[in-house]
Amino acid sequence: MKYCSNCSKSIQLKKIKDDSIPRYVCDSCGVVHYQNPNIVSGCIVYHENKVLLCRRAIEPRRGYWNLPAGYLENGESVEEGAIREVWEEAEAKVDIKYLHCLYDLTHVNQVYLLFVAALKNKQFSCGVESLEVGLFAEEDIPWKEIAFGSTTFALKRYFSDQKTAFTNVHIGGFPAEE
Ligand SMILES: [Zn+2]
Repeated sequence: MKYCSNCSKSIQLKKIKDDSIPRYVCDSCGVVHYQNPNIVSGCIVYHENKVLLCRRAIEPRRGYWNLPAGYLENGESVEEGAIREVWEEAEAKVDIKYLHCLYDLTHVNQVYLLFVAALKNKQFSCGVESLEVGLFAEEDIPWKEIAFGSTTFALKRYFSDQKTAFTNVHIGGFPAEE
């Protein structure tokens, strides 16, 4: 950050009284520009014994498979964001069942929240941010072509939970075991 989004004058990184880390403060109007992690919200959408994956049409990791997920918008609940992302990427309607995993990406200042959700009315198609969308059984998941470690983390735990009826939230982060 170089300029104030309030008055467009220059800003400087400064230590503020009683705050633990330096903040960008406007020289002119005094506004403090806090920077905090972004939330990414999405779903493991299931139908029978299969899960919905989308092949990314956008960078990063274009051409790789991912769970439908994306940045939460202001004014939106985490569940609303997850439902919207599934619609945008896979044109599917879902019922959220439970929170499956929380995954910290501290090196890029993101927090992933992924829900397990049931596919409604068996319908889905390729959204604008996807090259291809499909339902995959565990044995057919293209593990070597999965876009992100957080996706592998979530999918592996989802399939193992199916065998043990485990529904607690899994907490992970980068760098992590898969
Ligand atoms: Zn300012």
